[in-house]
Amino acid sequence: TLLVAMALSALGDLWGDLMKATGATERVFEIIDRKPAFPTRGGLRPERMEGRLEVEAVHFRYPARPDSPVLQGLELAVNPGEAVAVVGPSGGGKSTLVALLTRLYDPDAGRILLDGRDLRELDPSWLRQQTGIVSQEPLLFSCSIADNIRYGRPDATDAEVQAAARAAHAHEFIQRFPEGYLTEVGERGTQLSGGQRQRVAIARAMLVDPSLLILDEATSALDAESEHLVKDALERLMKGRTTLIIAHRLSTVSGADRVVVIEAGRIVQSGDHATLMGEEGLYRRLVERQFVAA
Ligand code: ADP
Ligand code: MG
Repeated sequence: TLLVAMALSALGDLWGDLMKATGATERVFEIIDRKPAFPTRGGLRPERMEGRLEVEAVHFRYPARPDSPVLQGLELAVNPGEAVAVVGPSGGGKSTLVALLTRLYDPDAGRILLDGRDLRELDPSWLRQQTGIVSQEPLLFSCSIADNIRYGRPDATDAEVQAAARAAHAHEFIQRFPEGYLTEVGERGTQLSGGQRQRVAIARAMLVDPSLLILDEATSALDAESEHLVKDALERLMKGRTTLIIAHRLSTVSGADRVVVIEAGRIVQSGDHATLMGEEGLYRRLVERQFVAA
């Protein structure tokens, strides 16, 4: 088995995603103590991206808790097209890493490079397009399914929207609605199942075509049918993209090329599943506990 039960939310909807990534209880701190977003404004928009990610000696603490270092010299290099699962106990810094990758915050020390360029040198809106976040809570807007898919790329044609939906295994169920792609969803519209929402969000990501994909796995499972379709759609989305998977389940980890274990803001283990199982260490204990815990 490979990837399972991922829930997606708006690509490019930095705020919504990061609020969720960091957790509702942290929201207060976000609002009160956040550093200004994008304190430096780089303007680079490189034409071609390979998707090489390098996290170099990154240190970070939240402004609200200056006495509690969160990331403490985090080092991580991911090759173009590689899929790396990030696992670790709750509070280890997984969501914080995502927050830095999307520049909700910048490192206090160290740097994060995409294709050799510091994130701070890159044009923020360009970076947002290159970094696809597919997060735990599927976030759909109160508009048509087509516009939900088009969200990250408003100029996409109907044909492009449909092609993305097909690739994401969403076309089939969308077509079954009387109004098809024009079906209104969201609060006052048609309610989609968890698996359907995820496939809409995968279609959205397909259309944006980011070079770096961050998947934040949902902690709750889907029914078997949905799970299979979502898994297959995600595999298609990941193909040829650098992917970080924040994983809560063993079955997800086995879809990755490599696993890194984050504990107390550092990578304490790195390797494939079999190698890590052969080591005395945190990974084996997490597997024995079957992980979970966001
Ligand atoms: P994980 O995703 O691995 O569970 P997090 O990155 O969410 O870990 O959290 C790492 C540490 O940072 C925890 O101690 C957590 O309480 C703290 N933290 C997370 N978000 C905030 C925030 N917005 N403000 C202050 N502290 C935070
Ligand atoms: Mg987390």
